[in-house]
Parts: sequence; structure tokens; C-alpha cells
Amino acid sequence: HEIILETRGLTKRFHTSDGRPLTACDSISLAARRGETLGIVGESGCGKSTFVKMLVQLEKPTAGAIYFRGKDIAGLSGEEARRKRQHIQMVFQDPAASFSPKMRVGDIITEPLVNFGRLLRKQRSEKARELLEMVELDADFMQRYPHSMSGGQLQRVGIARALALNPEVLVCDEATSALDVSIQKKIVALLTRLQKEKNIAMIFICHDMALVQSLSHRLAVMYLGNIVETVGGGELCETAMHPYTQALLGSVFSLHMDCCKKIETIPGDPPSPLELPPGCPFAGRCEKRMPVCKAEKPRLKDVAPGHQVACHLY
Ligand code: SF4
Ligand code: MG
Repeated sequence: HEIILETRGLTKRFHTSDGRPLTACDSISLAARRGETLGIVGESGCGKSTFVKMLVQLEKPTAGAIYFRGKDIAGLSGEEARRKRQHIQMVFQDPAASFSPKMRVGDIITEPLVNFGRLLRKQRSEKARELLEMVELDADFMQRYPHSMSGGQLQRVGIARALALNPEVLVCDEATSALDVSIQKKIVALLTRLQKEKNIAMIFICHDMALVQSLSHRLAVMYLGNIVETVGGGELCETAMHPYTQALLGSVFSLHMDCCKKIETIPGDPPSPLELPPGCPFAGRCEKRMPVCKAEKPRLKDVAPGHQVACHLY
């Protein structure tokens, strides 16, 4: 599958108000391919959202590159950045936060097309109908306002709006996390269908290991700003090697994942990214820690075709 979007060494450092540095993303190199879903999983605060904000140019990277179809877009600004941004669209956890409460759904979902000059106002209703059908909503939703809709319906509107510009990459940041499980399943089925039909690259960010695994072709596990393991989506249960990934799998309770039936929690709190120890970011919680782990940071290494791990055990 062709690589559409690729990051190399993508890094974001912040300074807190009292001037202390915080590394939210530390040299992340990942690729999203046409027709595939890249899942990124990790606990909240691990840097997943900062990573995707850089992809859609809501945050400027401190270092590294973002290649879209081979061209580095990390340094773009102004009109050029705006034009590239059409191709990489985002679905948020709370879609309604970005909707104007005074706009009708038909106008909300076609607004990006009008903004980019791809649609005349009078062509709106036809296009709106098409987009609603794509996300399995009746045409009468065109006239509705966001406040009269359920969470699942709003998320469908968010997806329709994100797809209005026919993006090549769709980034979903905890897009189903706020929904009830039964609604979550329907939205996941919808996203999976659209990803296949439109042959787009999807990046699915989620803290729910079972969910992210169920729809990802490739998976990256993130811990405190670092990718600690990458593996083929269906192989995670059998092949997880990083102690953090194994701990995450052990902490998953899911009826849909035969391999993870235990309920456990990972002992210890994640260290604050402010006070990251010099060695392995997981060293403070790892049961397999060795002396080298606190001294030297492990690099991401190939352990098998398509499988990388950052751990001194391997
Ligand atoms: Fe544990 Fe060491 Fe591997 Fe880090 S490098 S995950 S501390 S064994
Ligand atoms: Mg987040």
C-alpha cells in the first residue's frame, strides 16, 4: 500500500508557564498508507493528541518532518498550509464543540466545501443529501440543529463534515470514546466501511486497546511521547513484546478479545513528561527493569518483519 502521510522524527516540546520543558512527542516516525488504518494506542496524556494536532497543523512541530505525498508540509504556513490541510481531515471526540449551534446540519456539513470554493451556496442541499446518505442519516437531518441530536448522530455529522472535502487521510482522535458501547460499535462499523469504500488512509487514536485493535491494519503503542512498539493489527495479542504493551493487554477487559480476559491495572503511575527519567520512559513501572534501563534510552528496533520494539530486553 502506498504511503500517503509519513512522519520522521516528529517532536514537540512545550515550555510550561514556569519555564520547564515538556516533551509531548519525542521523535515519532510513523506512516499512514492508502486503504489502511493506523491505530495509535496509549493512556491519556501519552502525547497522541499532540501528535495528530501536528498532522493537521493545529500545532507546529519543534523538530522533524511530516511528508504528505512525499512533500514536507511541517514548515508550511498561510495559504499553502490551508490548501494542504484539505487533504487531511479530523474527527474529534466532541464534534459538536466545533459546530455553530445556530447552523443547520445541511450547512454544517457543506461548510468546508463552501470555504474552499468548491461549492456554490445553491448547490448545497444536493451535496448535503449525498453526505448524509454516506453516514446513514435521513435527508430530513438537513434542517435539524445540533442541540436536537444524539451523540451518535452528532458524530455522524462530524464524519460527514470531515469527508466533505474528499480527504486522503482521515484522523480520528478518540472519535468514539464518549459514546455508549452500542453506538460506538455502529460508528466504528461506519468508519471501517467508509475507509474501505473510499480507500483512504485512516489514523485512529484511542486509549481502548480492544477497540483500536479491532479495526487497525497497523498499530503503534505510545508511552509518554514515545512509540514503544509497532506491529500488524491482528497480531498484537500473540506477538506483543514490549512490557508496556503486555501490561496494557493485561489491563484490557473485553468480550471481543479472546486473549485478554484478565482485569489488571498497570502498577505505578506514569511519570510526568516533565520529569522524564534519562533512560527508558517505562522504567519506573516496568517489572523487567535492568540496570541499563535507567541509564540508556532504548531505540525502536526491528525484531521481525513489520514489528518494532523499543526495549533493552530485545
Ligand atoms: Fe522495561 Fe527496560 Fe524494556 Fe524499558 S527497556 S521496557 S525498563 S525492560
Ligand atoms: Mg487526547
